[in-house]
Amino acid sequence: MENKKIRVRFAPSPTGMLHIGGARTALFNWLYARHYNGTFVLRIEDTDQVRSTEEAVNVILEGMKWLGLDWDEGPGKGGEYSPYYQMQRLHLYQKYAKQLLKDKKAYYCYCTREELAESREKQSKENKSLKYDRHCLSLSEEDKKRYEAEGRKPVIRLKIPTKEIAFNDLLRGEVTFDGGLLSDFVIMKSDGIPTYNYAVVIDDALMKITDVMRGDDHISNTPKQIVIYEALGFDVPKFAHIPMIMGEDHAKLSKRHGAASVMEYRKMGYIPEALVNYIAHLGWSSGSNREIFSVEEIAKEFTLDKISKHAAVFSMEKLNWFNSEYLKKMPIDFLTKMLLPFLKEANYIENEENLSPAKNEYIKEVLKLMQGRIKNFSQFIDYADYFFVDKINIEPQAFGSVLNKEGVPGILQALEEKLSAIKCWDEESSENAVRKVASSLQIKGGQIIHPTRVALSGKKVGPGLFELMVVLGQDKTVKRLKKAIEKIKEAKNRK
Ligand code: GLU
Repeated sequence: MENKKIRVRFAPSPTGMLHIGGARTALFNWLYARHYNGTFVLRIEDTDQVRSTEEAVNVILEGMKWLGLDWDEGPGKGGEYSPYYQMQRLHLYQKYAKQLLKDKKAYYCYCTREELAESREKQSKENKSLKYDRHCLSLSEEDKKRYEAEGRKPVIRLKIPTKEIAFNDLLRGEVTFDGGLLSDFVIMKSDGIPTYNYAVVIDDALMKITDVMRGDDHISNTPKQIVIYEALGFDVPKFAHIPMIMGEDHAKLSKRHGAASVMEYRKMGYIPEALVNYIAHLGWSSGSNREIFSVEEIAKEFTLDKISKHAAVFSMEKLNWFNSEYLKKMPIDFLTKMLLPFLKEANYIENEENLSPAKNEYIKEVLKLMQGRIKNFSQFIDYADYFFVDKINIEPQAFGSVLNKEGVPGILQALEEKLSAIKCWDEESSENAVRKVASSLQIKGGQIIHPTRVALSGKKVGPGLFELMVVLGQDKTVKRLKKAIEKIKEAKNRK
């Protein structure tokens, strides 16, 4: 590595959500900056005035904060090269466009949409490559005046040199393009707004970006950008184009493959550390079998030679595995705190802020029972509902196949009596009660355990029954058994 301090950037267009691909680009740049003690810049590319929204900017900023990807320069932070919103930098794009015009490296073009379409049609008939036909390359001052008098507003086009354009991609090695195939593309639109390929160069150059790391869907833009760097005499940064992310069906990643937006994962109750750990693996690997890393550990190991040259495959199952691992291993107090907003949202608790210590302890105990069984916090809300509501919802299938069976009311009745008499409510005493009832009725443990589970939780599967009973408490356990007996009787009477 040279001595030059690394400066990288994430430059999203705020036209939608922060999707997994964008988050990966942000993360890789962040990791690279942290690895080399460099600077991570966030720049908002909001020149698409129709599609850019403030809401989308907020979603991006929120998403990055949630993932822990803090930026050193950018919105809310400022920095030596501010502003970091392109729409606040229009004067800069105009200034350099003027210079390009003056140096005859760019020119005004007055062609209308119809004229351009006509020219393209002609080229296609003649089997020529479709390029701007340079009609306006050498207009005289009179021509320009005439067009302006007609009310035409010009765009500015870059004059592309007909030579080979090459760069050394940090991941792919030497990449070459035939400049002769490129069209003189528009750099400034007639409304004074720059196009992406132009604005991105002015900003990357002025912000002294040393390494441009982005998705390989941009690779065909890179030669166009290099032409601009060279035309303005700017240093060309290094480029690294990261292979795309695909779904398991090898199609471009989209909603079909699971949630596409980072905020949806937040809503579903994924742990940001787990999501970051997984996203890092969409293209990067440590080179060992180990997969669970903190983001700081990944930063330490994050070098480009560990980035795959092949497309990454997004797997929901793998993400769930990562999240489950974090759920199992993260400190219970931390997880409990994270769970509270989900409990509030589900109306399982009234207020997250002033929970009594006893309630907090209860939530913690429930979470301990569930943490090995859930993939995310939304699932917790579904699986653990019976710990938080008075009236449990007994799944009809569980009622029919387990509770509403010959002999079950008698079994539950016997158990209810034994459990009511327990003085010291713990796993051992409740298990003893079940075993005793089993032997006195001469039935197998399972014949008591299954209906009891359904009576207490409404579900056929869940955590170990004795642990469940201890956390639920003696009072509720007994009440629910009585209630289940009533329900079975009601069902019988209805027949
Ligand atoms: N605004 C562009 C995008 O979101 C940035 C591409 C780049 O990194 O140059 O795709």
